[in-house]
Amino acid sequence: MLLPDYHIHTARCGHAAGRMEEYIEHALALGLKEIGFADHIPMYWLQEGDRDPELAMPECDLGGYVAEVERQRELYPDITIRLGIEVDYIPGHENQARRILERHPFDYVLGSVHYVDGWGFDNPAYIHRYETCDLDELYRRYFKLVQQAAQSRLFDIIAHPDLVKKFDFKPTCDLQGLYDETARAFAEADVCAEVNTAGLRVPAGEIYPAEGFLRACRNNGVPVTMGSDAHLPNQVGHGFDRAMELLTRVGHIKIALFNERNIFFIIP
Ligand code: ZN
Ligand code: FE
Ligand code: FE
Ligand code: ZN
Repeated sequence: MLLPDYHIHTARCGHAAGRMEEYIEHALALGLKEIGFADHIPMYWLQEGDRDPELAMPECDLGGYVAEVERQRELYPDITIRLGIEVDYIPGHENQARRILERHPFDYVLGSVHYVDGWGFDNPAYIHRYETCDLDELYRRYFKLVQQAAQSRLFDIIAHPDLVKKFDFKPTCDLQGLYDETARAFAEADVCAEVNTAGLRVPAGEIYPAEGFLRACRNNGVPVTMGSDAHLPNQVGHGFDRAMELLTRVGHIKIALFNERNIFFIIP
């Protein structure tokens, strides 16, 4: 098992469990050579009083998160540990995100669309909204936001780029057209797509993104990074065998690594 896992959360976010050491020990047991923590950024687009402590760490904790990753590097010299972060893309709040990102020496930044026009569509607490929403419109709107996220230049990687399928509500519109358009936007903005295995653990039951999306990435020369989106130590590297099968089936996709926001590639 040689693929790096670049999407690992920590207990600081308020909805993951286990100490950082436990995530690292699990990675070592699997034989991973490289991992990256990518915990949720503080909810910078809301007033402090309106931020949900179960969705992301408080702003005063961010320095502690960075310092803790740096400390783990010293404790575990046998594995490369990257400092990443998962950043919600909220249109109109780009400068606030940029100011936070400038303050710390991140190796990479994952950009995520978890909200469509204020609706946290991936949160089980708001799943009832699917009953009344126009699914075609939701998918079109979601992929537009993903494209805008890429164009914002805030991010190195777009995480789980078809997260909208999470609860398995399917639209009737042509998804391949949206995939192609989105992969072209990634190529133009020089961002990677994330292959995220958390999709295997939710009703969708398949890796993010769909195979058609990855074919579009291949056709447009968009590289990928790998992530389990672990919120528990034993989820590190989860489903990476399936991800590898998928990547092999699609073929000719480069797997990217990051150091201080510079990209390089795994030589297969
Ligand atoms: Zn989370
Ligand atoms: Fe996410
Ligand atoms: Fe995540
Ligand atoms: Zn995530």
